[in-house]
Amino acid sequence: MTTSDQVGLKRVEVHVEGVLRGVGFRPFVHALARRLGLAGQVRDDVDGVHIEIEGARPRVAEFLTALERDAPALSEIERVTVVRAEPTGRRGFAVAAADPAGPRRAAVPADLATCDDCLRELADPTDRRHRHPFVSCAGCGPRFTVVRAVPYDRPLTTMAGFAMCPDCAAEYHDPGDRRFHAPPICCPGCGPRLRLLDPGGGELPGDPVATAAALLRAGRIVAVKGLGGYQLAVAASSEPAVAALRLREQRADEPYAVLAADLAQAGLLCAIDGDAAGLLTSRARPIVLLPRRDAPRHDAPRHDAPRHDAPRHDAPRHDASRRDAPRALAPSVAPGSRSLGVMLPGTPLHHLLLAEVAEPLVLTGGTGDEPIAYDDADALTRLGAVADAFLTHDRPIHVRADDSVVRPMADGVAGGVVVLRRARGYAPEPLPLRHFVPRTVLACGADRESTFCLARDRRAFVSPPFGDLDNDEARRSYAAGIEHFLALFDLCPEIVAHDLHPGHRSTRHALAIPGVEHVAVQHHHAHIASCLADNGERGPVIGVAFDGSGHGTDGTVWGGEFLRADLAGFERLGRLEPVPMPGGDAAVREPWLMTAAYLGPGDGPPKLDVVRRNAERWAAALALAAGSPLTSSAARLLDAVAALLGVRDRITYAGQAAYELEQHADPAETGCYRARLTPGEPLTVHGADLVRAAARDLESGRPTPVIAGRFHNGVADAVARACAALRDATGLTAVALSGGVFQNVLLTERTVRRLRAAGFRVLTHRRVPPGDGGLSLGQAVVAAARDRARLSR
Ligand SMILES: [Zn+2]
Ligand SMILES: [Zn+2]
Repeated sequence: MTTSDQVGLKRVEVHVEGVLRGVGFRPFVHALARRLGLAGQVRDDVDGVHIEIEGARPRVAEFLTALERDAPALSEIERVTVVRAEPTGRRGFAVAAADPAGPRRAAVPADLATCDDCLRELADPTDRRHRHPFVSCAGCGPRFTVVRAVPYDRPLTTMAGFAMCPDCAAEYHDPGDRRFHAPPICCPGCGPRLRLLDPGGGELPGDPVATAAALLRAGRIVAVKGLGGYQLAVAASSEPAVAALRLREQRADEPYAVLAADLAQAGLLCAIDGDAAGLLTSRARPIVLLPRRDAPRHDAPRHDAPRHDAPRHDAPRHDASRRDAPRALAPSVAPGSRSLGVMLPGTPLHHLLLAEVAEPLVLTGGTGDEPIAYDDADALTRLGAVADAFLTHDRPIHVRADDSVVRPMADGVAGGVVVLRRARGYAPEPLPLRHFVPRTVLACGADRESTFCLARDRRAFVSPPFGDLDNDEARRSYAAGIEHFLALFDLCPEIVAHDLHPGHRSTRHALAIPGVEHVAVQHHHAHIASCLADNGERGPVIGVAFDGSGHGTDGTVWGGEFLRADLAGFERLGRLEPVPMPGGDAAVREPWLMTAAYLGPGDGPPKLDVVRRNAERWAAALALAAGSPLTSSAARLLDAVAALLGVRDRITYAGQAAYELEQHADPAETGCYRARLTPGEPLTVHGADLVRAAARDLESGRPTPVIAGRFHNGVADAVARACAALRDATGLTAVALSGGVFQNVLLTERTVRRLRAAGFRVLTHRRVPPGDGGLSLGQAVVAAARDRARLSR
């Protein structure tokens, strides 16, 4: 029996891993130790937080329980390791400086929406941070977008240039203060300064927020510097303003998202249930795609998702937001769409602006294919011809990050949500991996919706998307992003994974990295592996990968694939019947070409509208099809039906035809077209049967929303029957759904329901997008699985 046991003292060393920096974790530990009368210290270390704690035995036990149970809401504890140590008898509890030595694997938190405490100060005329557009604390504010390097401390953020005033410094150094060691801490006396500029860069007089709000109310376009870049804002009720924005940024149809002041205001625009409210008010503050209250009517009875009254508990924070009721949305905000992207303010500046404008704003990040502007000079250059004024400030953005976009699912499918874009508020938080990554992997992702992924041990860091790598700025940003992440997480890739397509820019970037092992991963295998990793599974499963296109192992264009897949490998079990893509990429831009390819020459007299609309080129399209490459793409099948129904002949943004087809479909329709299956290796699903059935219904005069509904049900039915046939052949009883086509919530819900009814266990994405934005995660886990297999041989 030791001396310490005799006196009832105990000392332990506690190592905590997870997202702990910038979320108030150390002040929490300090307060907890003081409350329990324990001695010791807490400090950040190489990959988390290190705590030494000493005191009466039961108190130490209580500390360890409370450490996990009561941790700050924004922290995410991944692992706690407790090692016993010899008591020292020293008294007092200290918060020690960070240990800058060693590898820096501590997670950098994502940017966090302004917390309630800070909002109270923002609204309190007696507080020294009243109406301060940069109010933040240890639990909220900018993080990832201002971090230059790690450890995450003020000198290594873009706040380094702002010397703290004595009041702020006192808060910063007080372990009991809620701003203890909060890197972005500042006040009106020492913080960044807000300015309103004209397009030439000249400063406009008056209060920047009030003047910007007046411009917005007058229908002008204002560029607003947000957390991750410059966004363009206009009053959402003003048709001339929204139309002017579309014209100036040359954006024809792609729906805009809307920023509302609070849940009550958002609830006037969209149906918000409890899940949606949770997403809207979550710390990431994503854009949430929700059913509109003023959904455009079509010629069939509408059966929208159940609508709930907006929650009433969310009292407006600023009286100004209630000055007048929001007017109707301008028609150009989201034409032809029954859904609307809505978000709530995530920064003090957005709160102030919304209160002052007193109505929802359209808020948009990019212009065309260009990634969001984040550099001040670059923003003036790029947006100078679009914006009438710039609401900006002098806190630099170090890393650009666009708004994240999520879509709730009905029926509890997919853990309730599909992530369409994982960016601000989510990146770069690590995704925990079930399966170990023995050597550091860099996965280079896809060329469109490009992301990269760094994986090591049991963590994957997926970057925000950089856009289309054909764009110069996107490519520069992607390359710089890789370097930044490697430095941030102190990793050096030993394996570089990339797409099988040798000509892709992401592949060429990967192959140009010397001294590493290169691993090529087939596109659809990567999709299914991404879904497996997203669910912590290794397979094998029946993987259904439905997307636009990907390079197949036979050199043809795949995109409607049924794979037997696990993390390490795959086998192609089935596919949509290949059809010609008239003119190759032209068929992506002009979906009616796919209608022609699917209907073919043998369908008798052209009674269909799609033929009449494209009469001059129809025969040429059929001739072109004869000599064009074949594809099994599911996205092209959806395109063919979108054009057939007159929803969309030519697109102005990627995925437009399929999105509008989903928006057009009557969700209450239960009828279903039936596609034949032909057994074989691979099994063939005859998508053309669905197109012909839709054409017959169209000719008989059935309303197009009904036809679109039956088509969605038909695709889901074909997937379920194909999987049942493949289960008979393989014995596999789990199905993973991935690929951009499954961003379609209607199709995903129908497919999951049918698969479950057939007795399958169904995996869908939860944290990364089913589309190409999630591809890099899949490539990384495939490379890691092959590495594990090699090491164990
Ligand atoms: Zn706060
Ligand atoms: Zn200050």
